Amino acid sequence: MVNVAAQKILEEKFGYDQFRPGQAKAIDKVLAGENVLALMPTGGGKSLCYQIPALLLPGITLVVSPLISLMKDQVDALQENDIAATFINSSLSFPEIQERLQLAAQGAIKVLYLAPERLDSDGFRHQLARLQISLIAVDEAHCISQWGHDFRPSYLSLAPALAELPSQPPVIALTATATEQVAADICQRLRIPAANEVKTGFARDNLAFQVVRDQDQDRFLLDYLKLNPDQAGIIYASTRKETERLTQLLQRHKISAACYHGGLSDVARRQAQEDFLYDRVNVMVATNAFGMGIDKSNVRFVIHAQIPGSLEAYYQEAGRAGRDGLPSDAILLFKSQDIQVQHFFIDQSELDEHFKQTEYLKLQEMTQYANTPLCLQRYILRYFGEVTEQDCGRCSNCLDQRELQDITVDAQKVLSCVKRMHERFGKSVVAQVLTGANNQRIREQHWQELSTYGLLSHQKQKEVTGLIDFLTAAGYLQATTGQYPVLQVSPSGIAVLRGQAKVQRKQAAQAQRSLPVND
Ligand code: ADP
Repeated sequence: MVNVAAQKILEEKFGYDQFRPGQAKAIDKVLAGENVLALMPTGGGKSLCYQIPALLLPGITLVVSPLISLMKDQVDALQENDIAATFINSSLSFPEIQERLQLAAQGAIKVLYLAPERLDSDGFRHQLARLQISLIAVDEAHCISQWGHDFRPSYLSLAPALAELPSQPPVIALTATATEQVAADICQRLRIPAANEVKTGFARDNLAFQVVRDQDQDRFLLDYLKLNPDQAGIIYASTRKETERLTQLLQRHKISAACYHGGLSDVARRQAQEDFLYDRVNVMVATNAFGMGIDKSNVRFVIHAQIPGSLEAYYQEAGRAGRDGLPSDAILLFKSQDIQVQHFFIDQSELDEHFKQTEYLKLQEMTQYANTPLCLQRYILRYFGEVTEQDCGRCSNCLDQRELQDITVDAQKVLSCVKRMHERFGKSVVAQVLTGANNQRIREQHWQELSTYGLLSHQKQKEVTGLIDFLTAAGYLQATTGQYPVLQVSPSGIAVLRGQAKVQRKQAAQAQRSLPVND
């Protein structure tokens, strides 16, 4: 049953006829005073789930959001709709903050955006406790979980801060990116009953996922952009230096591009963001510092020039394409060497050992996405705990017309080599043994004497590591987590070794909308 008052606001204030999936249910529960977790894909319309209750409830709706750079835009958009909104974050001076709190205390504010860091301060929490707060919305709620890919320690102050509020308002947590583990963590921390998870399908029916392996990245990008001129898109790169190099490359080829990363000044970042948002440049080349909460509906492609650190990060970044529902591309350019950069990030991070292991595991899962022969959309959904029987029919794996080849014999050679090396080594050493490399380590370990030494000597080492990646993604091999993953043969790999199962493979998938790369 759609709440009549909510429906009226949807039409009159926001100008929409119908709720999107999940919106009405989330709003009803919030209005009934219950805590809710809204899991909806990017562009699914999460904001209305708290903005409409904000207008129906008597006091203030507090929106906790890590997106400081976007709060002003969000507030401006609400004000344009005659909704009294404001924000408090570190960009304001102390007197400005006091003035806004004063306005809120006088009942002149309906929606108050807040950076989570504010909640770390006892004094501020006391001031909040004096306001009439009717609802708390926790945006980007995955940031509360240490299992999430974007954990923010300040989010941990949320639960104690909420407990101090005399009105004990309901909480609505919102995210587009949560594995089952992260969702459970959010619910536990914010006391959301499992039954109040409002989950709409995560599938993005207008996105064509593609994995492009081992191609010349610069050529691919230039060809793709020539084929898709005047389209807005984002190119993610894993380092600041690489974003700058790519921006210059595109600009040299007369492609209008801006650069965005955390090392640029606030002014430069703001300028780049606005140029992109207001269609003054087509392509944004950025690190993952760009984009959380960006509401640009006509992004036609998101290309990852290098592999990101986790499938959650990937889906969230790729999901910035096609918020308007029109067909859009989400392309991952994959080279196995790029994994090293992500390894380095984890290694250098200040996480404790336990969390480093989790990050390594996530990276492995991301790498498996790049190597899977399965439908890419299904693969992602399964990662988020959503089981579907249907292939998407749009991704590069679904559209890959090539015949499956029987590679059982080569697979057996790899699996048997892993076994003979006592499942104690990683893929590059295994590939060296299989290709018959002759280096000091091989000689020292007497690996030339193994019966599997040189069994794939007609192949390049890169091809063999590619084959190992494929066998890992397909589940015949398992890699341990950690900085130096060690290969082990899984039960399904044993079946292949025993001749009880066959292995089939298509050649590496190509992007469908790009021109063939010119040599
Ligand atoms: P997200 O879930 O990514 O936070 P938003 O709340 O920003 O999504 O909504 C994405 C877009 O969809 C916005 O432009 C919003 O105005 C629009 N939108 C939200 N709800 C509806 C609806 N019921 N009908 C039509 N458009 C909607």
